[in-house]
Amino acid sequence: MSQRIECSRRTCRWTGRESELSEVLDPKYAAKSLTVYNRVCPKCGCDSYYQLPEPIITERVEHANALIKVIAEHGRKFFDHKGALATLELDKRGRVWVVDEYTKARVYTHYRGHWYGFNHGGTLRDLVCAMRDYIVKGKQLSIEWIAPTRWNPDNGDIWGYGKEAAAAVRAAAAQLPIIKQGEQA
Ligand SMILES: [Zn+2]
Repeated sequence: MSQRIECSRRTCRWTGRESELSEVLDPKYAAKSLTVYNRVCPKCGCDSYYQLPEPIITERVEHANALIKVIAEHGRKFFDHKGALATLELDKRGRVWVVDEYTKARVYTHYRGHWYGFNHGGTLRDLVCAMRDYIVKGKQLSIEWIAPTRWNPDNGDIWGYGKEAAAAVRAAAAQLPIIKQGEQA
């Protein structure tokens, strides 16, 4: 696989592979009728980026990403953008990052301020934080995290998955090692 890179533009932070960069004509040379291509960020067109180390994937990171996959396979398909899924990963200091499925930005999950590049609201941010704590501390999640109904199932789930999809995503999630066992799905 080609080198992993991150766009250096602070408001973009596209994360991907060198092979995914776009090739554009360099305007400096085009003026002289020479065809010289620049490799640029496919999201913002910036030609400045830096190398990123490979993500560190532990067993618990895999468990968290398995939950993301289950959520992405049901209902409104949170964490899925045209088949690309959000992924969690560790850095070498043991810190957890989430690569957003839509913006492709790598977001630092220990940051208390605004998560720039995270395309979801507070409910899913809280869920990512709970997955982060599982990755770091092994603290399993209650099934109540998944398509929560806030005490009364007749009011529907707050994710807006709808009754059937909410029940299905909970049943599938309940099988996963990241979820605390012995609770009602
Ligand atoms: Zn960019």
